[in-house]
Amino acid sequence: KTTSKPPPLPSPLRFSKFYQSNMRILVTGGAGFIGSHLVDKLMENEKNEVIVADNYFTGSKDNLKKWIGHPRFELIRHDVTQPLLVEVDQIYHLACPASPIFYKYNPVKTIKTNVIGTLNMLGLAKRVGARILLTSTSEVYGDPLIHPQPETYWGNVNPIGVRSCYDEGKRVAETLMFDYHRQHGIEIRIARIFNTYGPRMNIDDGRVVSNFIAQALRGESLTVQKPGTQTRSFCYVSDMVDGLIRLMEGEHTGPINIGNPGEFTMVELAETVKELIKPDVEINMVENTPDDPRQRKPDITKAKELLGWEPKVKLRDGLPLMEEDFRLRLGISKE
Ligand code: NAD
Ligand code: UDP
Ligand code: UDP
Repeated sequence: KTTSKPPPLPSPLRFSKFYQSNMRILVTGGAGFIGSHLVDKLMENEKNEVIVADNYFTGSKDNLKKWIGHPRFELIRHDVTQPLLVEVDQIYHLACPASPIFYKYNPVKTIKTNVIGTLNMLGLAKRVGARILLTSTSEVYGDPLIHPQPETYWGNVNPIGVRSCYDEGKRVAETLMFDYHRQHGIEIRIARIFNTYGPRMNIDDGRVVSNFIAQALRGESLTVQKPGTQTRSFCYVSDMVDGLIRLMEGEHTGPINIGNPGEFTMVELAETVKELIKPDVEINMVENTPDDPRQRKPDITKAKELLGWEPKVKLRDGLPLMEEDFRLRLGISKE
């Protein structure tokens, strides 16, 4: 007797735990600094399959080299300003240059990435019913008039300045997230990330911590942009990744600030790098760029209460870990 029905799948495949509880996760911008650390953490869980989509503008395959070829990992060269068709359960949407030097390099592309890129990822989330997390930024507060900044603060942003492609781009991205949530019932999460540092930052990406460490190691003077009294609060990357995963897994849409409330002036940061890495290095005051926020410090009450999250790594403990990574990549060993 013949039958046209295909034979049933062998039971271990049909009913294995792996098939039932596997979570497919898309990380856009996963070849970048924060994204690659997030991928490392997600890959630790054997139930996760991770797909990275990245156009390598500021990221690199090198950051993911330990996962290339792994059966639960996939890397796609893809620009998020183009539609993307994949089947996933969660989307961590990080794709966007984060350093001012890079996001100002092609501002029109930056705003397209934020607006069209986020729209595409929301369209994808809508089609497949995925939960989506956006990495927004403390820059949505602009040059803040309230200090520290709570999530309820609407910000003080120049809509036509050289930073606007990034600040206003992220503000529109947040708007799109909430409109898809209200109009289409998409499950959203918004993290407002404050300055983050750690291993794998682009050595020459122009951000202050990477600049100071690279300068100290190369024996060049540290370039403090005037007036030097402007402040930032620096979060170590492992704390950041922990906060992002808690937000994704939790029940709250946000926006929620994720950052370290320890606040430093740029002169204090330079002094700390000098003391820890190269005590005889010079500190040079140089010209600043327009619209530089004068102060920035997260109010993390919401993250503590709603996510049970707070940062653990102090600046003085995180800087040496980054120094170690920069020494390896620059080929400068400790005397
Ligand atoms: P990064 O530049 O190292 O990583 C960004 C990644 O996105 C890179 O791999 C880059 O190639 C990719 N990318 C850029 N444009 C893309 C596009 N159009 N299509 C596909 N991929 C694209 O930056 P990061 O520090 O890892 O930042 C990650 C996210 O966190 C960004 O959304 C950034 O806005 C946000 N954020 C970072 C900080 C921080 O201090 N690092 C602060 C606030 C917000
Ligand atoms: N989109 C995508 N992947 C998908 C589904 C949609 O990239 O799996 C893109 C799509 O090309 C569109 C955007 O997401 O540009 C918004 O999609 P949506 O369905 O919300 O809007 P519409 O296509 O109706 O304009
Ligand atoms: N900055 C500095 N020296 C540098 C690079 C940056 O003093 O070599 C200052 C900059 O003026 C700003 C702060 O460091 O006040 C943080 O700049 P960064 O570009 O790292 O991040 P932002 O928070 O401005 O996005």
